[in-house]
Amino acid sequence: MPVLLNVNENPYAPGTAVVATIADAVRAAASGLNRYPDRDFLGLRSDLAAYLGTESGVRLDAAQLWAANGSNEVMLHVLQAFGGPGRTAVSFAPTYSMYPEYARDTHTRWVVGRRAEDFTLDPDHAREVIAREQPSVVLLASPNNPTGTALPAATVAAVCEAALEVAVPTGPGGEPAPAVVVVDEAYGEFRRAGTPSALGMLARYPNLAVARTMSKAFALAGARVGYLAASRAFVDALRVVRLPYHLSAVTQAVARAALSHADELLAQVEELRAERDATVAWLRSLRHADGRPLEVAESDANFVLFGEFTDRHAVWAGLLERGVLIRETGPDGWLRVSIGTRDEMRAFRDALVEVAGL
Ligand SMILES: *Cc1c(COP(=O)(O)O)cnc(C)c1O
Repeated sequence: MPVLLNVNENPYAPGTAVVATIADAVRAAASGLNRYPDRDFLGLRSDLAAYLGTESGVRLDAAQLWAANGSNEVMLHVLQAFGGPGRTAVSFAPTYSMYPEYARDTHTRWVVGRRAEDFTLDPDHAREVIAREQPSVVLLASPNNPTGTALPAATVAAVCEAALEVAVPTGPGGEPAPAVVVVDEAYGEFRRAGTPSALGMLARYPNLAVARTMSKAFALAGARVGYLAASRAFVDALRVVRLPYHLSAVTQAVARAALSHADELLAQVEELRAERDATVAWLRSLRHADGRPLEVAESDANFVLFGEFTDRHAVWAGLLERGVLIRETGPDGWLRVSIGTRDEMRAFRDALVEVAGL
């Protein structure tokens, strides 16, 4: 079994106390499975609001929360509600490879602007693309995948303002609508001290939504639970497009049981952040065989993007030969490594030095 550092999972499995609570909750849910689940899952939404209140200090109402089977499904709901034929979704590359799929699946035109050389987003460029393309949806990953880059609050504000200026036709008799902006904070809990969450801007922008997931920091990728916080009106638009009873009673029970152990599940986040910072520093100390220093992107996530290799595929394959699986992604020449346990990161470092002759 190789060291799996390729899909940004949390390397720490849920502990025995968490597993016991989840198992009890599933057992209790099982005795009611003859009935359809709570289709508005208000218990879970209220638990999520409470969690975000603790995590980011932002007070939200349960009616401002939405959840689905992974944040991938949450985003699909956003595109179903606000995208569609004749409409446009915009993002800025390099970014998450799934975004164009949500656009394709909803027959939404897909347009990408660009991020700068250092993977930040120039607010002027963002404004210009939004004004020109008149999208109904703008997707911003922050921290971004695969680069790890978080957006400053001023950039998110500039995008929200530009989105408010958009006039999307809404059909006969309808008022034109502004664009909606989704800040995808799948890696939000890994952000460095001082990096803000866009949750704090929800009160200012009714067209803003912040998506989160239990797949990464919560170590619950297998449970498929993602969620979003926004204005009530935004959430109401999502309620229209979801399939009836899209979130099973078992999923709701698992998510609520896990949230009741948020502290334990998130216990390793601190350690992963420290390991991330150490990995960035270590990679920055290296030089290619020709003397060039390695390029290493700033990271607020649980992975690091580094390069630039003349033959990145050879480096990726060499690591795999030594039992370490990372990801060949991002701009040409770059590779992405997810942060694993201390032992896994040692295996990664040893293999990289050997393979790349650093
Ligand atoms: C991993 C990831 C997600 C999470 O997807 P889930 O469907 O919740 O597992 C969302 N956005 C980005 C950018 C990611 O990297």
